[in-house]
Amino acid sequence: MMRLLIFALLFVLQCTTIGFHENSVRSSMDFGVQQEFKVCTYKEEGIDEEEISSLFQYWNEELSWYSLKAIHVDKGYLERPGFTGFDILNYLYTLPLTEGCDRILYLKGRQWKDILYEFFTLGIFAGIGIKLEMQGAVETNTNTRGYIKAKYISTLQILFTSPKSTLVHEGYHLLGCGHQLFMQECYEDIQKVKSAAKYTQGDQNFFPSKTKSGNVFKNRFQVNQVFGMSSETNP
Ligand SMILES: [Zn+2]
Repeated sequence: MMRLLIFALLFVLQCTTIGFHENSVRSSMDFGVQQEFKVCTYKEEGIDEEEISSLFQYWNEELSWYSLKAIHVDKGYLERPGFTGFDILNYLYTLPLTEGCDRILYLKGRQWKDILYEFFTLGIFAGIGIKLEMQGAVETNTNTRGYIKAKYISTLQILFTSPKSTLVHEGYHLLGCGHQLFMQECYEDIQKVKSAAKYTQGDQNFFPSKTKSGNVFKNRFQVNQVFGMSSETNP
């Protein structure tokens, strides 16, 4: 019983990085040439340049396994569009992907209301699985946009997760990965996105996205259409 509990706990911990890594599988896979994708961020007041660059540096260490690099494009400050993650995602649905952006990421800060909320939800420790996912989310219609809680300190959460590990987690979703116990499936998802990118890097200069259901978006127009927007970028 105890063993099972430890395993369950370990699983929850590991889950902050989306699944168990399989180093030998990964190193035997071919991820092709080095590619870059541009992540446009909107940030809440209180998050500084240094914090963002250290977040991206950490993420890029992980991405180097796949010969990938996330390029940070700062789109400035944006007041949080609502208190809950749903509010933030709903707002992100209204933003078109524009030239120079392959993904959109909202960096949520930490206000006194959050601290209060964290205090009152500490009791829901048993529901940690749910709580963890609330550190960030990526929409599953196109896997091009999401948010992370970019700033948090104290409370029990720090024992389990951090803005850096949240970015890595949501970063995998931005590459088309879902959740899995073992990572091989996700490695294969990344291979698929990278191989689709071979055909979109030229004219459109767009890094494609992929959903778990197998839809591949090869240009910004296709992505924007899903959210009911027309875009200046032609198909
Ligand atoms: Zn997730």
